[in-house]
Amino acid sequence: MSDQLIQIRSHLAVVQDHSRQFADFTFVYPVISRRSRGLSLGINLNPDKICNFDCVYCEVDRTAPGKVSRLDLNQMQDELAAMIHFVRDGGLAKEPKFNELPSFITRNVKDIAFSGDGEPTLIHNFAECVRTVAEVKRRECLDKTRIVLITDAAGLDKADVKRGLEIMDINQGEFFAKVTAGTENYFKQVNRTTVRFDRILKNLTETARARPIVIQSLFIKVHREVMPAAELNAYCDRLNQIAAAGGQIKEVHAYTAARPTPEPFATKLNIDELNALAAVIRQKTGLTVQVFD
Ligand code: SF4
Repeated sequence: MSDQLIQIRSHLAVVQDHSRQFADFTFVYPVISRRSRGLSLGINLNPDKICNFDCVYCEVDRTAPGKVSRLDLNQMQDELAAMIHFVRDGGLAKEPKFNELPSFITRNVKDIAFSGDGEPTLIHNFAECVRTVAEVKRRECLDKTRIVLITDAAGLDKADVKRGLEIMDINQGEFFAKVTAGTENYFKQVNRTTVRFDRILKNLTETARARPIVIQSLFIKVHREVMPAAELNAYCDRLNQIAAAGGQIKEVHAYTAARPTPEPFATKLNIDELNALAAVIRQKTGLTVQVFD
């Protein structure tokens, strides 16, 4: 492991605040991300906090309404450009939470990520949002900066979302799909949605046939029980089925909750429990599994 990577990892362990509000910005927020191992600029496409899931580990506070109810595309574009300038000029490096990090982290935009307070693909003009971000990225000469989508995969069968993914594909796109179950029952228990698990798997398979995807899995204990062996086997089977159908899975990112979850019965794993799950996934799928504790 390089010295720089060791430094990044140690800093990421310190900076765990993933607030989606920053100063006067409404739609764009900077975050030091475990996933990107550096600075990620988040785009909140769901300021209304609407989601089609209600995950037991969700950190979005839905007891208070969002600052605004819908995305203003022009404002998002202006905020993104302003944030990039702020990062480049060293302004972010002076801010609390960021001012103890080295400048190679705080001045380098690793990615621009559609994430936020709900499911990004629920927005009606997703492709337009991607096009706007790609245009800002091009104007600012951020050739190596990736455009990332983090999604629950329920909306990937929408024509507008498919167009957005195609725009991402030619603009250093990277695709992260949340999968936290192997069966419909466990999926419903953890993600608490009316969307069928079959639909998620079908969408993932089709999407992964067109481009490599990263599976992002957040594992927790439910009522003090780590994912049962039968469920973990089913989870591995689902990943193998996607691969057997021609889907390209680049790797699996195995997480646990970084903070206490809103549901007392959903608790984080310790590092040994997370590593044990990752070892089973590696062994049963042959995939690269990265662990983020
Ligand atoms: S998909 Fe994300 S935003 Fe939606 S409920 Fe789950 S964790 Fe929260």
